[in-house]
Amino acid sequence: MEEKTSVPALDEILGKQFKILDKGFIRVIDYMGDDSSIVQAARVSYGKGTKSVSEDEGLINFLIRHKHTSPLEMCEIKLHVKLPIFVARQWLRHRTASLNEMSARYSIINEEYFLPDEADLRYQSKRHKQGGDGTIDTETASGIREKIKEMSEKCFAEYDDFIEKNDLTRELSRIILPQNTYTEMYWKIDLHNLFHMLHLRTAPGAQKEIRDYANCILHEIVKLWVPICYKAFINYRTDACHFSGLQMEQLKGLLDKEKVTEFIEMNSKKRGEMRELKELLEKLLGEELKVKSQEDSDKDKINS
Ligand SMILES: Cc1cc2nc3c(=O)[nH]c(=O)nc-3n(C[C@H](O)[C@H](O)[C@H](O)COP(=O)(O)OP(=O)(O)OC[C@H]3O[C@@H](n4cnc5c(N)ncnc54)[C@H](O)[C@@H]3O)c2cc1C
Repeated sequence: MEEKTSVPALDEILGKQFKILDKGFIRVIDYMGDDSSIVQAARVSYGKGTKSVSEDEGLINFLIRHKHTSPLEMCEIKLHVKLPIFVARQWLRHRTASLNEMSARYSIINEEYFLPDEADLRYQSKRHKQGGDGTIDTETASGIREKIKEMSEKCFAEYDDFIEKNDLTRELSRIILPQNTYTEMYWKIDLHNLFHMLHLRTAPGAQKEIRDYANCILHEIVKLWVPICYKAFINYRTDACHFSGLQMEQLKGLLDKEKVTEFIEMNSKKRGEMRELKELLEKLLGEELKVKSQEDSDKDKINS
């Protein structure tokens, strides 16, 4: 009989609010599975469960590196998130999750809106139409921040009047509220789809405000929940990069086959690390690299 998994490090933070932005948060409500659930699912085809930690780590590295993602779907997490509507609009584009959001038809919305810190008010980037570049000077930033506050308060005052003085429905009163109004949702997703979302939303090209949430999930929660997968994800996804066919050709032109072969020979004791480098170089060069072991190279030196 297999036991239900539990991760003590994650159990310890169940329900804890990780503060994000000025009034937002993320907290873990529940989870299913851990690193060993992934290993178990991957090995089910030949009836073997968890082996040693290093073998499990090797298998998880293999799965994540080669995008054998279905075992990752064995793990699920449920979060309670409080976030501004403009962040939620980006978040909800990730369709492979289940969610339930607070109803502004049913509930009266609290006067809670996101007011960015002055240091987070960014100039429009000249290079990237979707991004920012550098911080707006303090005096201008202070004026903009004041304006955001003033406009938000005005919208909430009108909202309250619509509801209290005019008896307008909540579902219509809300249309005057700004995009920085906070909303809340319960959000459940499996680890494979969570990694896909985190890969996109922790990247430098994602908006800083959603990046803050994604980084919290990745580095404060996933790291505790599935530490082996976390390490593999950082190595094979967030810190890795993808080359186009043209870039591969160009890189090939920059390679000196003898020098790279020599480098791998010199480092042959770090076999694991060199294996992946050798694979990459062989892909770039389009041929197998004939690499001698360190002992063979030493023997050659003695004999010569
Ligand atoms: C930096 C950035 C900028 C963006 N800018 C914009 C923008 O300007 N405008 C805009 O509209 N969106 C924008 N997006 C949203 C983006 O286009 C994606 O919708 C979002 O990132 C979710 O990705 P996804 O569809 O891969 O994820 P998910 O919805 O989680 O889907 C995961 C995977 O499931 C599969 N899948 C899910 N649903 C379908 C389907 N209906 N048909 C086929 N396959 C499916 C796909 O393989 C998909 O990759 C932006 C995203 C980022 C990260």
